[in-house]
Amino acid sequence: MQALQLFGDRDLRLTEVEAPPPPGPGEVQVRVRAVGLNFIDVWGFRGMAFAKRRLPLTVGAEAAGEVAALGEGVTGLAVGDSVALYGAQTCGHCKACREGRDNLCEEVAGVMGFHIDGFARERVNMPARLVVKVPPGVGLVDAACAPIAFGTVQHMLFDNARLEPGESVLVHAGGSGIGTAAIRMAKAIGCTVYTTVGDDEKGAKAAELGADHVVNYRTERFEGEVRRLTKRKGVDVVFEHVGPDTWNGSLLCLKRGGRLVTCGSTSGVSTTMNLMQLFQQQYRITGSFGCRLANIRESLDKMAQGILPVVDTVYPLAAFAQGLERLESRKVFGKILVEF
Ligand SMILES: [Zn+2]
Repeated sequence: MQALQLFGDRDLRLTEVEAPPPPGPGEVQVRVRAVGLNFIDVWGFRGMAFAKRRLPLTVGAEAAGEVAALGEGVTGLAVGDSVALYGAQTCGHCKACREGRDNLCEEVAGVMGFHIDGFARERVNMPARLVVKVPPGVGLVDAACAPIAFGTVQHMLFDNARLEPGESVLVHAGGSGIGTAAIRMAKAIGCTVYTTVGDDEKGAKAAELGADHVVNYRTERFEGEVRRLTKRKGVDVVFEHVGPDTWNGSLLCLKRGGRLVTCGSTSGVSTTMNLMQLFQQQYRITGSFGCRLANIRESLDKMAQGILPVVDTVYPLAAFAQGLERLESRKVFGKILVEF
């Protein structure tokens, strides 16, 4: 069968690999149909010295497909079911896993497509525990956005920031895969959404998605604009994933006692911050990485209710690298996926 493998920095090749054996007890064999691209793929593609991994590595961290075969003892799934796949091999028995906080697993074997072989292959055997059934009416390209894009946003906004109906939220990079998802999810519960974008075309699209206020961060200082729009009160929640370029401005946008949640730092890894501001303003800052299994179910349920991911481009598997280049270029509005 075919798999897309990384052989070195920026060296992706479609290769012939051995198909997996029939699924063992408690396992499900999935025919992968769609893989979502994320910044973690860009990091892997560029090469990250600190990531422990063996090359060649099958890429793809976020996927959906159809059940092809069931191992002994698997219940609740049937051959042909549409499923979304959790992208980290968590242990299933540590305290965190038992409590449903899978992304805090103490014995995680790694993130698929980054540390260990991922989903860009025709078939994969997975522990049934990490396979989530897709509700009727949700297509596989959309479902492939549940494990990372939607799941991450669901975890950030609702588990971590505890966003409530009627609150205000600033979503950075409103044209990104997670930015578009955050705008839709926040609007769906009646929040006021402020968003930043890098050009006016994206701004118009973000407004179409429902963002109430759009700021072009290249032509205006977003923190000044958000403070002006909120009559200097600030917002309840900031959804961060940009990092040093926006961090201090994001803090200035927060209400006293406001919550900042971050899952990324695409503009760099270090910054300085004013600690007096942190404690005097009583900010709550939460780091977020990945999501819980339940967040994938919640995301798929939202999709079934019509809160769908914004899809920028769907490529064939062989054009995965082209998709990553498009993701890096930032000329994107929504998610990039491959389908096969
Ligand atoms: Zn665990």
